[in-house]
Amino acid sequence: MRAAAAAIAAHEAELSALDAAIGDGDHGANLRRGFSAVAVTAEQLVADGVQPGPFLVEVGGTLISSVGGAAGPLYGTALRSAGKALSGPAADTAAVGAALRAGLDALCRLGGAQVGDKTMVDAFAPAVGAFQSAADQDLATAALRAAAAAEEGMRATTPLRARKGRASYLGERSIGHQDPGATSTALMFRALAESLTP
Ligand code: ADP
Ligand code: MG
Ligand code: MG
Repeated sequence: MRAAAAAIAAHEAELSALDAAIGDGDHGANLRRGFSAVAVTAEQLVADGVQPGPFLVEVGGTLISSVGGAAGPLYGTALRSAGKALSGPAADTAAVGAALRAGLDALCRLGGAQVGDKTMVDAFAPAVGAFQSAADQDLATAALRAAAAAEEGMRATTPLRARKGRASYLGERSIGHQDPGATSTALMFRALAESLTP
């Protein structure tokens, strides 16, 4: 969460510029506000010794309540559902992969988007697939593969026509622009990979 908050803060302007092209220009500011709040919540939860599952449920709730835009409830719901899928003080790669899958499923249920709709799902879904394909590897290896898959999915949103969210109002004119939510998803998976790499 620290690494994600730092990555979002470092890329705030870029995320908002992407959103200005096909949305309302607030994606960077929305997430910067949300992850600033998450960073504070997270430090307190760590100090309290809260376990990984309840930790994710709690920070997901913080995102939902601190972000006005569509992305906050979507990411917050994903984190909450991932947290509910984790139990105990530690998790191996297979357990984290299953938790990520539960998070993605909840996000898709809430937003109704599928791969190809030009949303964060286009980065999130391949990332979860790559993570789960590396279930027999260590966490850092799985996270590195997930980050690479998220970045590929992110770049693949450029030629797509948006079918969900604000960008869908543009119809054909959404073609040729990279999706801001897919971009923030890729940043978060890269942050996860870097924080797990020794
Ligand atoms: P808003 O559109 O409310 O201003 P943001 O700018 O914070 O919200 O987030 C926009 C991003 O949210 C989009 O780039 C897209 O990736 C994602 N998004 C929007 N609607 C959906 C949806 N229904 N399902 C999945 N992702 C979505
Ligand atoms: Mg926006
Ligand atoms: Mg908005």
